[in-house]
Parts: sequence; structure tokens; C-alpha cells
Amino acid sequence: MPDIAADLLCNSRLDVLMGGGHPWYDRQGLPLEIPDFRFFGGQALWDSLTQGHCGADRDGDGNPDPWTFIDSLEQFRALASGPAPDRLFGLPRVRETLQQGREGRVLAPPDSVPFIATVPTLAEMTATALNVLDADPDGFFLMVEGGAVDWASHGNQTGRMIEEMRDFNRAVDQVVEWVERNGGWKRTLSIVTADHETGRPTSPSAESRWPLTPSSRKADLLNPENRGRGAVPDLVWRTVRHTNALVPLYAKGAGSKYLMESAQRKDPVRGRFIDNTDIARTVFRLMPLPR
Ligand SMILES: [Zn+2]
Repeated sequence: MPDIAADLLCNSRLDVLMGGGHPWYDRQGLPLEIPDFRFFGGQALWDSLTQGHCGADRDGDGNPDPWTFIDSLEQFRALASGPAPDRLFGLPRVRETLQQGREGRVLAPPDSVPFIATVPTLAEMTATALNVLDADPDGFFLMVEGGAVDWASHGNQTGRMIEEMRDFNRAVDQVVEWVERNGGWKRTLSIVTADHETGRPTSPSAESRWPLTPSSRKADLLNPENRGRGAVPDLVWRTVRHTNALVPLYAKGAGSKYLMESAQRKDPVRGRFIDNTDIARTVFRLMPLPR
């Protein structure tokens, strides 16, 4: 991952890049005396970025276009509206994820362990990314990942998984608000999906065993039991690994019908589904890459 991030920072034409792995903060968001560059990509890259030298030629004029670097919560919030830099790299002041890796009981109910107060939410990062990108008259592509849903699920951390899903949901709300304020769904396509499922939380009464077999698939459809608003659903995790369970895909707006057309594969229980590589193919068809 640090290699990919370094490549995106030094060689790509991206306008916005944000992520975790701040070398000067620990997983609780507290400053370190000795930096740890392991999750970032090395000290040389860090120095070049923070001194304003890092960045390839984005606009094709033959000159490098360095990144504007932000890391404080105040900076993220200040750039959520109004004038924005051409290229923005945002690195919240925490070592790994935003909140999922914080200290305290990882198996506690949602919201019972205090949150780190010095990092933005995924929704705030999304608002800032949209504010940088929407200056482009040709439109833009933005990918937002709620990546720690997966980490919480690997740990079978029900409470933290719920917190992460809710944070992701709020990021989707930001996108919906942006679309509705900026020309509506005839101009913009939003896709909400997952790259895979992890942990397979099901109802305690489901008979399913991992891995799924054709005969266990129907039983496996027993979702966690809804115990009402504000209560943690009753569920049992079936694995600490990724699974091949089908995941939902929601699409709304311009071109969404092409996703439905591409959903040509068939599951005996769930019905039609789309191969995840066909999602990318459909997006490229709708928004060809510049040559
Ligand atoms: Zn994973």
C-alpha cells in the first residue's frame, strides 16, 4: 500500500488523495516523538510532500504541480466549502484508520468508547474532496472507501462495524446532498457497493456453516435479527475472513441503467448479479479516461 500511495503522489495526475497512515501520530491520534514512516512510504517522500515539492505534471503544461498538504481537523473543515486548491492531499492525524483502531474495548457496544476528537469523519473528508473536485467543468470521478468496515469485521467487532457502517452511510448522505445541490441525478451517477463481504454476520438461528454450499445458501439468507431502533441486532459472526457472499449494489442517476444491463450473471437464490470487474467496465464506458 505505501508503494501505491507513493506512486499516486509522485506520478499520477489525480486532483485529490486522502488516506490514513500519518507518520507523526499513533492509533489514538496522539503525537509521536519519533515518527514511523512504515505506513506512509518513507521519510524522503514525506519531506518532499511537506516541503511542497512532490507532485507530477497534472495539467500537461510540462511543469510539476505540487500537492497542497493538509492534516489538521480545522484544515479539512475549512476546505469543505469555498475556494479550494487545485490538488489536495489530506492525511488525518492518526496512524491507521480514523476511529476503528482507537484504544478501548473493541467488543464494546457502538458509541460506548470515546471517539478520537482530532480527526475528521469520512463524511467531512468526502465534503472536502467534493469541494476540490467540483471546480472542474468537465466533471469528475470520486471514489470513497469506508475501509475500516472490513477491519472491524475481521475482528468480529460488532459495535465498531456498526460505527463504521454509519460513518460510511453519512458519507453517502454527503454525496447525495452534493448531487441534489449541483444539477441533480440527470448529471451525476452515484454507485454504492462493497468489494466483498467479511465475517458473514447472520442470525443466531441461521443454520449456515462456512463455507457456503448450494444447500446452505437459503439458510444463510437469515440476516442479523432486528431488535429495534437503538439496539444492537442479534447476530453471530461465521468467520474472521473475507467471504464470497454476494454484496448489495445501489446505483442512482445518469447511466445507472447500464449497470442493470451488465448484471447478466445469475445466482440461484439472489437472482441476477454483476461481476465486480463489470462495474469498472461500465464506469469507463460512461466516463472514458483521458488519453
Ligand atoms: Zn479484509
